[in-house]
Amino acid sequence: MKDLGVILGIRPDVIRASKILNLLSESSDITYDFIWSGQHYSENMKDVFFSQLNLPKPDYEFQIDTTNDSTIVSSIIKNTYEHLEKNKYKAVVFLGDTNTVMGCIGVIQHNIPVVHIEGCMRSYDWRMPEEKYRKTIDHLSDRIYAYLDSYKNQGLNEGISENVIKVTGNPIVDIINENHNLFDTGGEYLDNKILDFINSDNFTLTTSHRRENILDKKSLTNIVNLLNQSESKIVFPMGYKTQEQLKEFNLDLKSNILVTDPIGYLEFMYLMKNSDYVISDSGTVVEEACIIGKPSIQMRHSTERPEVYDVSSSIKFDPSEDINDFEIYINKVNKLISNKWEQPFGDGKSSEKIVNDLVELSKSDTFFKHHRNDYSYDVSNAFKE
Ligand code: UDP
Repeated sequence: MKDLGVILGIRPDVIRASKILNLLSESSDITYDFIWSGQHYSENMKDVFFSQLNLPKPDYEFQIDTTNDSTIVSSIIKNTYEHLEKNKYKAVVFLGDTNTVMGCIGVIQHNIPVVHIEGCMRSYDWRMPEEKYRKTIDHLSDRIYAYLDSYKNQGLNEGISENVIKVTGNPIVDIINENHNLFDTGGEYLDNKILDFINSDNFTLTTSHRRENILDKKSLTNIVNLLNQSESKIVFPMGYKTQEQLKEFNLDLKSNILVTDPIGYLEFMYLMKNSDYVISDSGTVVEEACIIGKPSIQMRHSTERPEVYDVSSSIKFDPSEDINDFEIYINKVNKLISNKWEQPFGDGKSSEKIVNDLVELSKSDTFFKHHRNDYSYDVSNAFKE
């Protein structure tokens, strides 16, 4: 039996966890199964990242019902539960705050320890489904990897036991450090349509997929107005749901904005490196921009990554507000282009720290780190009537 199950399910999970997966594969001290939850399934939201980041294909892929959030979550829980009936791992590892991490319910039903990478981040915005998911998995976890001391303190303030939380730094720094040179050649993967459009002019890179932004007409209209305010070119790799919503709300982007389907990681980072700045509502994209020294406009009402404001790498644009003056945001971000800041996310050794700790825990049989130690009865039927 393998030591660990690692369950991931969306694009940024693969990117952020890529070094962790590779280190686990290389280690002779630990074994694991890589399980794909099925949340993202298109080639350009999933497979392209396995090949570009030299990752093994998943050992298992769940077949889930993607009709809506409830069917996604319930089928991930069911698949996880059933998978664990045959595979008694020492612990199951999740990352992040999406539907996939709710698979942890299927893990605790077997009383198998849960490990959460990216724990204790908080936006303190209870309207965000991700905030509810983060809190839930953190409070069910037996080991939490928190990226920063400040995130650990947020967990401690909620009463999570200190010996559960380990601060590691943010693994996205590791991925950027490792792949920096590949980003320079990432242009080779770019479609001619994008290369011809840029034509060595200055440009901005944009993404927007957050539901609170794209499902709300006022917010999406504000985003379109902000982008239309830009005089320079914009490349906008756009998620499928955002494409649908623009049509639904009859919103038009100006002709200096090129919309494409989502693209691979190396070409995306090539564009980021060569852009003047980034406009995005993505948590990871705003981190990446801060790390490689590009300013950003963060299109969010609230964030669990306030560090980008603390180091002045990012301007806040809240699409849910009443906004009259869009130019002011473009002017502000333009002023940041010549600024320098120290990226606050870590030393590039986060994946290593996480894997070393997982090896230690799997050897020492202490995954159950706190409130579970005192079990002296058989809990296998604990959830049955
Ligand atoms: N990304 C990519 N291609 C794209 C858009 C984004 O490779 O067309 C990468 C980006 O570099 C980052 C991640 O995907 O690493 C961000 O994913 P997303 O915005 O979906 O997730 P979030 O961070 O908001 O959870």
